[in-house]
Amino acid sequence: MAQYPQSPLMGRMMSQPLLISSLIQHADRYYSDVEIVSRRVEGDVHRYTYRDCHRRSRQLANALTRLGVGMGDRIATLAWNGYRHLEAYYGVSGMGAVLHTINPRLHPEQIGYIANHAEDQYLLFDLSFTPIIEAAAPLCKTIKGFIALCDRASLPASDKIPNLMCYEDLIAAESDDYEWPLFDENSASSLCYTSGTTGNPKGALYSHRSTLLHSYASSMPDALNVSARDVVLPVVPMFHVNAWGLPYSVMLNGAKMVFPGPALDGKSLHELFEQEQVTFSAGVPTVWLGLLTYMAQNQLKFSSFKRTVIGGSACPPAMMKTLRGEYGVEVVHAWGMTEMSPLGTAGTLLSHHQKLSEADQQSKLEKQGRVIYGVDMKIVDDDGKELPWDGTTYGNLLVRGPWVVSGYFKSEGGDVLQDGWFPTGDVAVIDPEGYLQITDRSKDVIKSGGEWIGSIDLENIAVAHPAFIQAACIGVYPPKWDERPLLVVVKKPGMELTREELLAFYEGKIAKWWTPDDVVFTDALPLGATGKILKNKIREIYRDYKLPTA
Ligand code: AMP
Repeated sequence: MAQYPQSPLMGRMMSQPLLISSLIQHADRYYSDVEIVSRRVEGDVHRYTYRDCHRRSRQLANALTRLGVGMGDRIATLAWNGYRHLEAYYGVSGMGAVLHTINPRLHPEQIGYIANHAEDQYLLFDLSFTPIIEAAAPLCKTIKGFIALCDRASLPASDKIPNLMCYEDLIAAESDDYEWPLFDENSASSLCYTSGTTGNPKGALYSHRSTLLHSYASSMPDALNVSARDVVLPVVPMFHVNAWGLPYSVMLNGAKMVFPGPALDGKSLHELFEQEQVTFSAGVPTVWLGLLTYMAQNQLKFSSFKRTVIGGSACPPAMMKTLRGEYGVEVVHAWGMTEMSPLGTAGTLLSHHQKLSEADQQSKLEKQGRVIYGVDMKIVDDDGKELPWDGTTYGNLLVRGPWVVSGYFKSEGGDVLQDGWFPTGDVAVIDPEGYLQITDRSKDVIKSGGEWIGSIDLENIAVAHPAFIQAACIGVYPPKWDERPLLVVVKKPGMELTREELLAFYEGKIAKWWTPDDVVFTDALPLGATGKILKNKIREIYRDYKLPTA
């Protein structure tokens, strides 16, 4: 960690460490009766308040202390978005231990690898994941016990899970008399492994300080803009970069929190949005796809939903238009990554943009937005030379800031910074007003005749056509060119369109040489553990694809 010189005259302000426990203390004291509503694995809807959450988090801290958990120990979770998971967010980090959220969509072998790498001591899991735990338990070398997030009546009868404990019993045996300890704000608070599409996953180890600064900055008006008047439903899972920090920032602002649990289908989500009068949400584009398809089929509207942040992968402009135009929902297009806690940029307008036409405003908002204070960014060429912000020059995107990793857990991957900047692996352009536009992951870039073709642009155009719901564009190798774009698309049920009609749809929208060389129609695209389209899988499938021009 960098050390800085001290001034001969230091300020005379209180020095209070920025700790995660302070968020729940604040929420209990100043928003005690605000509700936390959770759809549970058990099927029912559970309600309680911030005060209850604080009380049970303290009981959990006592229970973990009794189990011998100490500062810096890693406690894993395999759980949906729900109140017990939230108690682990506060109970574990608050006592100085480290919350390690594991993505349950990983294979048991990957879960075993991650749990061993993290040296997890205990693992808390939702009942839906019992079969995964049974498969992964023998592979987990450091875990001393598995805690099922349920009451005694629902405890699974499994002889394949060693030292199986019941969460409700465990905390019921404890008093809520617990003083949150004070310690250095740079202590580790939570751990999240990157999706790791290539190589082993690597851990981003957040600190209390980085989490609190991210919570402040991400709740600002030109970022997520969360307030005490909001009802927030994080669709983004609590195992995907801490639900983009919402369990912290929502508590900081005293908003009502609604957790969807395992029910992420369009019908269940729409019902919960309406029942709880949700105003704000967050998720990756594929989640909205399911919800919007269900709503269109059933001619439904929202009565309270006003604003959502979409990120994790590029939000197609067509989706933004539908949400805004048909449902009155403002979309904040955000960009970030596990290594950035995750928020880096958010798409909102500047003052003078208010004079622009709606179409011009829309084209600004379609980009991934401007940095939130705390994050700094630049684009560089392959030699590390900084490139201009002219809206057309592509470069490798680098970032720095107090909630950006300085290296991975256990120094995996070695020294990752370049002159103090973190290389994101994304390729982007930045316009003169500082709006970032991600054109590709560097490993997904299509290079044709030495020039780059932006695959995200090509995908956005395909899904702007009413016949398509999903598209992925990859590079394939004909002999003549370095690489040429192949478009793989999923049609809407009942829609028919030919290859020629789709390619004609590109005319006038892009430079002619960007036009995909061919189109493949498929029933579904492979999705990764966080709901993102897996381009490396698609590239594998079509590696030997023969383009018609070849
Ligand atoms: P993860 O760490 O799994 O959340 O993945 C981070 C990566 O997702 C980034 O480096 C980007 O490649 C991609 N990503 C995140 N948000 C966006 C966005 N709004 N548009 C395009 N790509 C995005």
